[in-house]
Amino acid sequence: MGKPDLIMSNTSEPQSALKLGLVVPCFNEEQVLPQSVAKLHAELERLIDAGNIRPDSKIYLVDDGSSDATWQRIESFVDAGLPVVGLKLTRNFGHQHALYAGLMEAEGDALISLDADLQDDISAMEEMLDALGKGSDSVFAVREDRSKDTVFKRWTAAAHYGLSAAMGIETVKNHADYRLLSRRAVELLREYRETNLYLRGIIPQLGLPASQVYFRRGERPAGKSKYNFWRMLSLSIKGVTSFSIAPLRMIAVMGLLIFTVSMALVAWVLYAAFFIDEIIPGWASTVLPMYLLGGFQLLAIGIAGEYIGKTYMEVKRRPLYHLERKLSAAEQTAAANNSGD
Ligand code: UDP
Ligand code: MG
Repeated sequence: MGKPDLIMSNTSEPQSALKLGLVVPCFNEEQVLPQSVAKLHAELERLIDAGNIRPDSKIYLVDDGSSDATWQRIESFVDAGLPVVGLKLTRNFGHQHALYAGLMEAEGDALISLDADLQDDISAMEEMLDALGKGSDSVFAVREDRSKDTVFKRWTAAAHYGLSAAMGIETVKNHADYRLLSRRAVELLREYRETNLYLRGIIPQLGLPASQVYFRRGERPAGKSKYNFWRMLSLSIKGVTSFSIAPLRMIAVMGLLIFTVSMALVAWVLYAAFFIDEIIPGWASTVLPMYLLGGFQLLAIGIAGEYIGKTYMEVKRRPLYHLERKLSAAEQTAAANNSGD
């Protein structure tokens, strides 16, 4: 009520207002969740008051098999009447799958995904909604600077994006999983049923109009990062192997090169054996190619195996997530009414 209403007709909701769903994957986030939900709620209210979104917009918290009190926290938000819907997965499926679960289950004309720690500046959401209004179906939030990151995180991130680009994978640089998707984009995403889920790679492939907004990333206010070196490496390998067969080609090219060099070596050895007297075949020229080829073959088999393993996992067509419970205020009220409240 602070500002005078600039909209002429007060009789109805502005036609353009849309229902927004915020999708937040949570894995052992009991520490950070209360403050994050409070901030998200406040931002939601602000956007509702400004007429940007509809009053029935909600926050979808996906509990990705947490072992701490994350789910109890979520229950308490719903009990307190906050606009929260709790989605509990049966076990830990990993960030990408938890996010996918949230996107598939959430209602709304547009969904914004973001991390539970709110390292991503939530004030960028308004700009993302503006971009949606201008016709973008996916709006990627891109980090302006990485000054808040550790040197290690910056280096691994640079290596990741460098590798992705070298492999010809279309990703948005310095964009993680903070993005807005229109209902149309979410429905297209529903048709991607791959087990090796790498949303950052898939969404640019939808081919719908996309745009970017920029934000600064803050520090995690509480709790610990769930991404250690191995998880980041695993995500990076997933990104490459689920989107590109360039490593297989590289092997072929390398194989050809090494084969050519070995042939030259064989020719030299033959020449030496026939035309050079008292030749003692050198240890190095015998053993080196052996090591070289042995190593190369192992590498080749390893990379081919990676793809075969992936094929194996994909052909199983396993479900991408299992929902144990869905908890929302509406459901609570219905239950209360049934019990004769
Ligand atoms: N997360 C998840 N499942 C997992 C690991 C992480 O749902 O197995 C969530 C986590 O709760 C957070 C988001 O993914 O909301 C990003 O994780 P985190 O903040 O630890 O990553 P970082 O920001 O350090 O890359
Ligand atoms: Mg984080």
